[in-house]
Amino acid sequence: MIRISKEHVIHAHSPLDTPAAAADPGTVVEFETYDCFQGQMLPEGATYATYDRSLANPATGPLYINGAEPGDTLKITIQKVEVGPMGILDVGGSRSGALSGCLSRNYLKRLPVHDGHIWYTDQIRIPVRPMIGVIGTAPAEEPVSTRTPMNHGGNMDCTRIAEGSILYLPVFVKGGLLALGDLHAIMGEGEVGNCGVEISGNVTLRADLQKQTRRPWPLLETPDHWISIAYGDTLDIASEKAVRQMFCYLRQEYGLPEDDAGMLMEMSGDLITCQIVNPYKTARFEVSKKILAEFLENTEPCW
Ligand code: CA
Ligand code: CA
Repeated sequence: MIRISKEHVIHAHSPLDTPAAAADPGTVVEFETYDCFQGQMLPEGATYATYDRSLANPATGPLYINGAEPGDTLKITIQKVEVGPMGILDVGGSRSGALSGCLSRNYLKRLPVHDGHIWYTDQIRIPVRPMIGVIGTAPAEEPVSTRTPMNHGGNMDCTRIAEGSILYLPVFVKGGLLALGDLHAIMGEGEVGNCGVEISGNVTLRADLQKQTRRPWPLLETPDHWISIAYGDTLDIASEKAVRQMFCYLRQEYGLPEDDAGMLMEMSGDLITCQIVNPYKTARFEVSKKILAEFLENTEPCW
């Protein structure tokens, strides 16, 4: 197993990044990650007054996958997401998020996390739902900030990117250059305030390679669902893209006839907001594997 320590951080996904490590496809790799503040807000009494925003949202990596070339897909099986002992949560002030205008100022809380719970107070304990906020390959040309989600992945803030799921990310440059960070101990759908319970941790994954799939956007698989993830300037654009990407996936990869693909999605697919706080918004569209299997068993593929 290869381990990449959190000292190997990037703040933009870039085709020019020097790899922190290289691995053959199928290798298990552990990534140690900072929280999204790169640890700056952990000391008691730390405030935004002394916070260096240029260090925000670090991602650990990148990992070079031997043999990965543009047009391939990285198949990333997320085996384990372990979160650290202390999370940071903030809300309000003039920062991003739909709640920002509702509060008179910014509030920040340090929240102990142990025994599978976030201890908001001694009485209020919330079960953790660990997830990976930032996970991406390098884009083909210009570097993209780790605050921004695009087709390479990045700051998607999708709650389904969690232990037990498989993320398929496009490869745009040789080696793919996979990096990840911005773990959340929990985050509500939409990330409506400004953040999740931001936390350091460790992610163990297996990175496999699928050759020349030519699927230029992120796809996610959970035990029960196929999920397209899309970004846009607005939630409307992100939502429409997520729906259309799923339609293309059902048509191109399963040969589902257009009427069945559309009606399956209309009847049983779910369009969900991932987040509304990042430079681009993200949305996802979920299709039940069980219902898709029934369609595939009982319809003629159109190829
Ligand atoms: Ca994030
Ligand atoms: Ca975050």
